[in-house]
Amino acid sequence: QLPLSWSPRVAVQTPQRVRRYATPTNGQQKRTAIVTGSARGIGKAIALRLAQDGYDICVNDIPANKSGAEEVVSEIRGLGRNAFPFMADVSKLQEVQKLVEASVNELGPLNTMVANAGIAQVKALLDLTEEDLKRMFEINVYGVFNCYSTAAKQMIKQGNGGKLLGAASIVAFKPFALLSHYSASKWAVRGMTQAFAMEMAEHKITVNAYAPGIVGTAMWDLIDEELGKKKGAKKGDTIKKYSSELIALGRTSVPEDVSKAVSFLSSPDSDYMTGQTIVIDGGIIFT
Ligand code: NAD
Repeated sequence: QLPLSWSPRVAVQTPQRVRRYATPTNGQQKRTAIVTGSARGIGKAIALRLAQDGYDICVNDIPANKSGAEEVVSEIRGLGRNAFPFMADVSKLQEVQKLVEASVNELGPLNTMVANAGIAQVKALLDLTEEDLKRMFEINVYGVFNCYSTAAKQMIKQGNGGKLLGAASIVAFKPFALLSHYSASKWAVRGMTQAFAMEMAEHKITVNAYAPGIVGTAMWDLIDEELGKKKGAKKGDTIKKYSSELIALGRTSVPEDVSKAVSFLSSPDSDYMTGQTIVIDGGIIFT
């Protein structure tokens, strides 16, 4: 006998409910996306891939990476899409509000928000300072929250659904020593994504995250160097080699491995997925 709370209320969806919730992109033609932290690395690959998919793109990063953002914008324009750079720090809500406003003014209604910007730091748990923890959460957690919530408000106003995507990490699934506060921040993104998806469903907005493994970017270079130092090896000496030995598909990844998955999560092909964090790690086994 099933307990009362197992009533088919949730399991058996009425056709009406399915119709209301099942088409987040509503077959729109022109699409726009904001990609945060897209002056380089994974964000840049996502911005370029979404442009190839037909999106006009707002390329966001911090002022220190303005020239990188401008180069990405030129590349996107070369693909025949509209793009513009907007410098904003995602950890500051007011700056994210200006980012979304600028994107709508410049490109039109917002369809996809990719909350990609993030930082990493290699440090033993016992050495972490309050400042380390605060900075990690301000960018990786508050940053994603600011992007999700501000974009969601805009999408609700537009009334045509949308896609919210956030950067998690394999460390939101598997343990990795010396990255404890980074791991905690990515678990937070995973949790926020699940919960926010439940609240956004009635607005036809889906919320999903992507969890890369080891991707050859400036961020991984930094992790590699710091881990190398702590393990008494030279930069690039053992860590990448060691990592590839732990990856079933036999190689670390490139940003384009991730951008392909983000392209899917941003397309109508993933309209029936929400609250998920999909792992793109080549099959990592951390022991
Ligand atoms: P990256 O350091 O190469 O690029 C990150 C970009 O974000 C930079 O251009 C940086 O200036 C920008 N950024 C940082 N703080 C910002 C802020 N407050 N506001 C706006 N922009 C900001 O890193 P990446 O490897 O491309 O990582 C992208 C995302 O993927 C991050 O969230 C990262 O945690 C996640 N990730 C990366 C890996 C990896 O192996 N590289 C693995 C798992 C998850």
